[in-house]
Amino acid sequence: MRGVQGVGTILSGMSDMDQLRENIALFEREDTLSAEEDDALLALGRKLSSSKGVPCTACHYCVSHCPQELDIPRLLELYNEHLSRPSFAFIAPMALGAMPADKHPSACIGCGACAQVCPQQIDIPEALADFARLMGE
Ligand code: SF4
Ligand code: SF4
Repeated sequence: MRGVQGVGTILSGMSDMDQLRENIALFEREDTLSAEEDDALLALGRKLSSSKGVPCTACHYCVSHCPQELDIPRLLELYNEHLSRPSFAFIAPMALGAMPADKHPSACIGCGACAQVCPQQIDIPEALADFARLMGE
């Protein structure tokens, strides 16, 4: 996995000319990942992203577009937490229990207005439908 080591080296930053030269040399190399390594990394990335939910950054761009006035980032935060921390599975039902029913993920009507403005291109109605299903709603 030479490419991965190279990325790690680049991301670690540069504090002198030798490190700058080393990083330039890395970009000049042609021995990037093989097709098999590429596929393995993509498969790993998909597995990690699907097991941890959605990459919501809580930018709130979507919120004003929701006709149901759902707190989408909060719901997605709970959804992510629920998926990534099974030993804390009680948190999401407890948090939803403190919200009015018309603000639950099941209140999403699937209009897709939120997804159209999401910079992360998250399929929000799909995520909320899955969250509602997991919550037994
Ligand atoms: S798809 Fe659901 S969350 Fe998105 S804007 Fe429509 S009702 Fe709101
Ligand atoms: S627009 Fe997308 S990234 Fe931003 S808060 Fe909404 S779901 Fe999250």
